Amino acid sequence: MAEQDRKEGFIEELVECHFCAGFIPDEFKCILCGEDLLDTEMTTRTKTVCSNCRTDVNEDAEECLNCGTAFT
Ligand SMILES: [Zn+2]
Ligand SMILES: [Zn+2]
Repeated sequence: MAEQDRKEGFIEELVECHFCAGFIPDEFKCILCGEDLLDTEMTTRTKTVCSNCRTDVNEDAEECLNCGTAFT
């Protein structure tokens, strides 16, 4: 049994909060600073991370280089 246990996950997209510059799941309220993000008209920066370890990954990556999670 040389085969590794392949963890499965997905690529999670996070958006940047204009107030605290933290990256959060796309929600209406920042989970970090509590500011309301409903009416923001500014361009929002986003990034994609591994759902398992939250390491930055390319949005078209097939697996996480950090923890080995396979994205389905
Ligand atoms: Zn915030
Ligand atoms: Zn990972």
